[in-house]
Amino acid sequence: MTFSAMVKNEMCRASVKLNCCAAAELYGVFLFSNTFNENEIRIITEHEIFSTRIQAMLKRVFQAEFDNTTVGSSVVKDVLVLTDKDALDRIMEYYGYDESRHFALHLNAALLEEEHCREAFIRGAFLAAGSVTSPDRGYHLELVTRHYHLSREVMALLLDMGFSPKITMRKSNYMIYFKDSEAVEDFLTKSGAPSSAIKVMEAKVEKELRNHINRRVNCEPANLSKTVDAAQRQIESIRKLKESGRFENLPDKLRQSAELRLKYPDATLGELVTLSPLKVSRSGLNHRLNRLVELAETEHEDGFDKRGSLYD
Ligand SMILES: [Zn+2]
Repeated sequence: MTFSAMVKNEMCRASVKLNCCAAAELYGVFLFSNTFNENEIRIITEHEIFSTRIQAMLKRVFQAEFDNTTVGSSVVKDVLVLTDKDALDRIMEYYGYDESRHFALHLNAALLEEEHCREAFIRGAFLAAGSVTSPDRGYHLELVTRHYHLSREVMALLLDMGFSPKITMRKSNYMIYFKDSEAVEDFLTKSGAPSSAIKVMEAKVEKELRNHINRRVNCEPANLSKTVDAAQRQIESIRKLKESGRFENLPDKLRQSAELRLKYPDATLGELVTLSPLKVSRSGLNHRLNRLVELAETEHEDGFDKRGSLYD
């Protein structure tokens, strides 16, 4: 099971005492779902627990049921569709949408003034359109929507909640995201996944400890196998970057360091520094090689921030 799926399972176990919060969570789900307008609500998900939770909430808050709950284009996915006019009217009225206007998706912030409702809302949004990278591979949590206004308004809401999210474009979608471990932890805690937040924290502590040990080990010249392992890893990462076509877009310094490593696959870091025409320090070169490994391991295309970022 992916870390995202674990997080969603935990969120789906969060109890919701107040009706305002149930409505707020549903609101997050609806706004970030596949379709939310006066004619149809359509939610597509692979998470059965989520599907069950949403059906129960719809019944609780709006006394409504989805038309069908399993008929989808794919066997592994649940598709929840609601087209009942009366139910849709009730929902639209509750969330303050005026069906006489052309329907552009906005966030009605007036419904989310209370902290408890806001936390429920971001849980709904995450359940519908969020994902989070496993903490042993890095810290990245995102919410994706194709609606421009919604992305801006949810950004504003998150800022108001004390978060510092960033926003960028991926294909034709807007992606609101967090890159640092504390923000990821905080988001998970607030949105009803505190155990997952602890996992992120533990992974971070473990990583720091490992780095500390590695630094000590690397100080000992006898530790040849470590050097070989690191070089192997660097070479693999460079190959990966080349294969994915990302290599050419890397900064000169990184490409030059990569070429140096490829030219001398067996050299230790110290040897590479001596062999390098780049006049780079040992720690500088080490940093660049590590950066290459990191880049090869990130799920999301680097260079991405440069192309599309609006808030970086
Ligand atoms: Zn509430």
